[in-house]
Amino acid sequence: MSEHRIKKLVVVGGGTAGWITAAAFSRLLGSAIEIELVESETIGTVGVGEATIPQIIRLNKILGLDENDFVKNTFGTFKLGIEFVDWANKGDRYLHTFGDAGVNLASVHFHHYWRRAAMSGTANTLWHYSLHELAAQEVKFSQLDRVGNTQMTGLAYAYHFDAGLYARYLRSYSEAKGVVRHEGIVQSVDRNAESGDIESITLEDGNSIEGDFFIDCTGFRALLLGQSMGVGYRDWSQWLPCDRALAVPSERLSPLPPYTRATARTAGWQWRIPLQHRTGNGHVYSSNFIEDDQATEMLLQNLEGDALDDPRPLRFRTGRRERFWAHNCVAIGLSSGFLEPLESTSIHLIQSNVSRLISLFPRDRVHAADREEYNRRTAIEFEQIRDFLILHYHQTQREDTEFWKYCKNMDVPDTLTHKIDLFKASGRIGRDVDDLFRDASWAQVMLGQGILPDDYNPMADKLNDDQLTAFLSDIRTIIEKAVAGLPTHDQYIAANCAAD
Ligand SMILES: Cc1cc2nc3c(=O)[nH]c(=O)nc-3n(C[C@H](O)[C@H](O)[C@H](O)COP(=O)(O)OP(=O)(O)OC[C@H]3O[C@@H](n4cnc5c(N)ncnc54)[C@H](O)[C@@H]3O)c2cc1C
Repeated sequence: MSEHRIKKLVVVGGGTAGWITAAAFSRLLGSAIEIELVESETIGTVGVGEATIPQIIRLNKILGLDENDFVKNTFGTFKLGIEFVDWANKGDRYLHTFGDAGVNLASVHFHHYWRRAAMSGTANTLWHYSLHELAAQEVKFSQLDRVGNTQMTGLAYAYHFDAGLYARYLRSYSEAKGVVRHEGIVQSVDRNAESGDIESITLEDGNSIEGDFFIDCTGFRALLLGQSMGVGYRDWSQWLPCDRALAVPSERLSPLPPYTRATARTAGWQWRIPLQHRTGNGHVYSSNFIEDDQATEMLLQNLEGDALDDPRPLRFRTGRRERFWAHNCVAIGLSSGFLEPLESTSIHLIQSNVSRLISLFPRDRVHAADREEYNRRTAIEFEQIRDFLILHYHQTQREDTEFWKYCKNMDVPDTLTHKIDLFKASGRIGRDVDDLFRDASWAQVMLGQGILPDDYNPMADKLNDDQLTAFLSDIRTIIEKAVAGLPTHDQYIAANCAAD
């Protein structure tokens, strides 16, 4: 065996990114390498990031977590999608659900059948045929893999949870698997003068931690990859102009909605995340278009229930690192970039980057080709998610404030323009094969933001008019029956995973 073998991994940072990284590495490579993690309670974590997307279920399965135990210990709730309020026009709403609306037939996406019926004036909205929409309206939730004995898939879901409790939960998990945690503030990053590789980090108390490979999970500071190695940042604020947020908890909602809400405001938007013990709220806004005190007032005036604390300010710059892996260091989490929280994609990016890194992790020394492959694939993933987020801002009819005028009229990446043009022309989705968002997601957000396709896939003409009417009305009947049989979200939690 080579004497260069990578024996020790050092994770710097103990927020969501640090502990997901430590948990996954200890589970999948724990017998092959030693893992140490450094974090500082004095510095703390960003402490937000409480809404997720369904891919997190895969992470939980890999880690072998029991869902009920996980939800109970993080005071979690279930999430069927995100409700967008006032985005295309004031007064509008739509749910970006995690599942398909209707059912695809003969390889043709349901929205083509729906569009055909809508063009002849015989259909309701797309969401009339969505199991998720009806369950959300009736505040219901349960595990449901399939709808009765039909071909319709059941409820796809994710979680809301308390970010602090989530990090603590993964910390216990990781420590039980042998991860060694150090408390302390990193004072210097010590690099080999010749190779540029990181050899160790030194803490304020003088303690030095050596390693063969380093993961930078230090949040927006990007202490290793950004500050020490000087890897630059690609700024995307011309497309994603929000740069500040205020986060504040308020009283628990009753009943508990099984979805996140994102309400457009005059210069940004406000989130509402229901948890078992409180509601997470935040106002994400652009400091070019609104003053901080106005933003605070707007947030506090729009809470449902009393605030339980003072609003906490956060600053960020949307974009990504030029490279994610340099020398023997990879940035994961906020240190690698931030695309703003509109579609709850940050925790997913942590998870997918950890999984990509594990699949390319070097055995004895870093190969430039592995590193470039990691950087290439991660850049593509960031760009695909970026385009999906821009769609929400740009595709609006709102021009009632300077912020919305800017968003509506800004130039967007060509990759997104192509997708919008394609959908507008024929309802087709120009989705890349490895895009995180499925066709159903692109279709819902395009339609929700007011793009109506001029045409539909001709294969949807295979049904005659009567068959199409029956197809649509059968779907609605099946959905209503399925939702009638579901418990409420509160009942489901009480029976399975209520927090103490
Ligand atoms: C307003 C807002 C809302 C968000 N909402 C969502 C959401 O709904 N869903 C979602 O998926 N994501 C969301 N995110 C993103 C999410 O919060 C982060 O992706 C996630 O928390 C990971 O953060 P992190 O671990 O990278 O950084 P942090 O939480 O900032 O952790 C950094 C760690 O590094 C340590 N550290 C830093 N410097 C040093 C040092 N010198 N010495 C020692 N330790 C150090 C800190 O102590 C800490 O442990 C949101 C982000 C923001 C800003």
